[in-house]
Amino acid sequence: MKILIVDDDPVLRQILQTYLSRAGYEVALAEDGRVAWEMWQKEHTRLIITDWMMPVMDGPELIRRVRGASFPHYTYIIMLTAKEGKSDVIFGLEAGADDYLTKPFNTGELRARISIGERILNLETNLSQALARMEELATHDPVTGLLNRRALYTHAEAELNRAQRDRKPLSFVMLDIDHFKQVNDQHGHLLGDKALHAVATTLAQNKRPYDWAGRWGGEEFLLVLPATDSQEAALVAERLRVSIQETRVPLPNGGAISVQASLGVATSTFEPGKAYTLDLLVHQADEALLRAKREGRNRVCVFDSKSTAVTT
Ligand code: GH3
Ligand code: MG
Ligand code: MG
Repeated sequence: MKILIVDDDPVLRQILQTYLSRAGYEVALAEDGRVAWEMWQKEHTRLIITDWMMPVMDGPELIRRVRGASFPHYTYIIMLTAKEGKSDVIFGLEAGADDYLTKPFNTGELRARISIGERILNLETNLSQALARMEELATHDPVTGLLNRRALYTHAEAELNRAQRDRKPLSFVMLDIDHFKQVNDQHGHLLGDKALHAVATTLAQNKRPYDWAGRWGGEEFLLVLPATDSQEAALVAERLRVSIQETRVPLPNGGAISVQASLGVATSTFEPGKAYTLDLLVHQADEALLRAKREGRNRVCVFDSKSTAVTT
């Protein structure tokens, strides 16, 4: 645990450094609030012990800046000062200090108060880790590790708004594994899950960093490709199709299987007077996917309003 000590008195800084280092803490030193503020912005030291009165920037101003910064983790601040009036204590705590000690201080008491700070910081760390885990569970599919349908929908909606604002194309690729029921029937549900995971990994590895990939449902996946016209999207989809059929899913008793997939592409382009919705794009990508299935599977079809009108 690292502690940032802020005091304009070099002797006190030295005493605190020696004492806290011996107690097993890593220590950083700053001679005034401005130096501390600059250090904190770089390192976000989670525990600060600060003096009140210092040249350039005083303790309360440093505290206000730290509290005003949008850093996701909490910084625990102990004020250590010669000011000891009740109104001073109130002022210091109201500026955002968590605790307050007056000089000359008792080292045992300082140590005990640092322990309180550590306890609170640990609680906060555990809480934010639990929140991150919950967030991950709420937005990701457990079988494939990809975004779930709801999270993907949210990202897709934001991308569609952005595409319309920037007058850029946006493409959707709907992918469905071919004859997947047979994989389950022949090799069991567990291997089916492994195959789903393998396809998802191939998707994640082949997409560009700014594309979104998620599990739409069952053995269906959706890719959202920002700033991509239908020709480019068809190339991306074809590349994926090939990568998927080359992906090996190992069998428990040796050997491996592979799966194939059909893909449908739909694109929103910027045309004055034409408003695309998410549902329309998903519907069109589904239509193209159905055509790929009808035409023999293991292929890519691009949505075409004319051919759809003929075949339905
Ligand atoms: P098609 O080429 O027409 O898409 O045929 P298909 O067999 O892939 O399609 P169908 O809709 O008949 O069957 C989909 C199968 O996907 C059936 C279902 O049990 C399986 N499936 C859906 N979700 C999961 C899952 O999470 N794990 C496993 N192992 N199988 C799943
Ligand atoms: Mg299928
Ligand atoms: Mg399906």
